[in-house]
Amino acid sequence: MSDAWEIVIGLEVHVQLHTRAKVFASASWGFGKEPNEQVDPVVLGLPGTLPVVNREAVEKAILFGLVVDAEIPEQCAWDRKNYFYPDNPKNYQLTQKDFPVTMGGKVEIELPGAARNIMGEHKWIRIHHAHLEEDVGKLSHSGSGSLVDYNRAGVPLLEIVTEPDLRSAAEASAFLNALVVKLTQAGVADCDMEKGQLRCDANVSVRRVGDTQLGTRTETKNLNSISGVRDCIIYESKRQIAQIEAGNKITQETRGWNAEMSRGYVLRDKEDAHDYRYFPDPDIPTLKISRETVNRLKKHVPEAPFDRQRRYIEKLNLPYTAASVLIADKALADWFETAVAAHPTNAAGIANWAANDLLRELSAQSGTEVGSDETPAVKISLDSCLIKPAQLAGLVKLTDEGVISKQQAKEVFTEMFSTGKDALAIVEAKGLRQNSDTGELEKIVAEVIADPAVAKSIAEYRAGNEKAINALKGPIMKRTQGKANPVMIDQLLRKLLG
Ligand code: ADP
Ligand code: MG
Repeated sequence: MSDAWEIVIGLEVHVQLHTRAKVFASASWGFGKEPNEQVDPVVLGLPGTLPVVNREAVEKAILFGLVVDAEIPEQCAWDRKNYFYPDNPKNYQLTQKDFPVTMGGKVEIELPGAARNIMGEHKWIRIHHAHLEEDVGKLSHSGSGSLVDYNRAGVPLLEIVTEPDLRSAAEASAFLNALVVKLTQAGVADCDMEKGQLRCDANVSVRRVGDTQLGTRTETKNLNSISGVRDCIIYESKRQIAQIEAGNKITQETRGWNAEMSRGYVLRDKEDAHDYRYFPDPDIPTLKISRETVNRLKKHVPEAPFDRQRRYIEKLNLPYTAASVLIADKALADWFETAVAAHPTNAAGIANWAANDLLRELSAQSGTEVGSDETPAVKISLDSCLIKPAQLAGLVKLTDEGVISKQQAKEVFTEMFSTGKDALAIVEAKGLRQNSDTGELEKIVAEVIADPAVAKSIAEYRAGNEKAINALKGPIMKRTQGKANPVMIDQLLRKLLG
């Protein structure tokens, strides 16, 4: 038997769907309200009230299914999951046990590459199904008693259940990142983890490499950050390996995670489905999902981010890093493509500006950190961006044509970002136009070459040291106040030095 261990992970991801109203009630929901402000008689489960399915929530769930290539069944239905706990005023949660809204599907992930600028391995993670349920209220406990806030009760919650296809904490992080990008780009959910809009249960087991049977798993509930999921998987897999190596058996149990102490703990023995006495909810009729609805929603499925990444690298010759940065934000990628349409010969040049300078300025403006672990989808707004795509294309065009140098382009960009003026107008107003007058420039180059101060560099260049030529470029730039076209300087130097 092998000594090496394999980790097996399946995730149950709960995401709050992007809707105006709650899933079975017309009360609105959102963050930062006073406790119990966003409730109504249905949310509170008052006698005589009946749930009404929110079409927007169902459509967002179907859209998720289409985004991950799932099957959308002809009908779905809701069940009551019965339990007695004050986070839910009805004493049951409406969920979908036997007829979920989507079946199957798959999500492409990318593992970290050997280095930041190198593409990592791609892999597909299968989705088992996703079901649409209601979120529950929040309890807060203190010495004198417990308080309950039903603002979150009834918020549409999509539970996305993966197959046990993930093999490491890194794969689980990559999966959640890819999922968040897909959900946000399609407008299915905002996935703001700081607001608790994405929570995750991690099922973890270990087995010896080569074993075909899955090991006994534990399920850690309610992880509310991607780093929490990662840390929990590392902790739990180590714990299980140590247990087995010590000759003990793994108990199938439900666990909690203490993020502050980076430790897991036992919550309870695993509950069984029959513990909840599930039965079909008699108040909500089975919902038929028409093919017209499905076909209409198909039109809202955006290009898959990794398809876009491949297209940028293969068709537009973008470097991997720029392509990866752009695809993480749909609005930015769309913006980039509009710019490329205005200057198609240098997509890589435009990408470089968009993925670096523009993104940096925009995130400084909105005060968000780019690409942090907890915000895989870059949160920037292009609405307030004064530079329009065609204007950035104009800047790149001016550089490509040698009208301004790369250095001058930086100055022009800064001005464009703060004023929204055209690149050419700024170049003219600042008198930045590069000196491309061959006659005048040739005179200056000849003067510099004649200066005894550079004789040594010239001799080295003639002796075969290519780089020695660079020592002459500084003095030429200085004499032209930085306006000389560097490409022309180089050509003239080589010509005059023979
Ligand atoms: P339950 O409904 O009892 O929680 P499911 O069979 O629906 O169980 O599985 C829930 C999650 O656990 C799924 O994501 C699945 O991939 C994962 N899972 C099931 N068995 C294992 C295992 N042995 N190791 C790791 N994950 C597992
Ligand atoms: Mg479960």
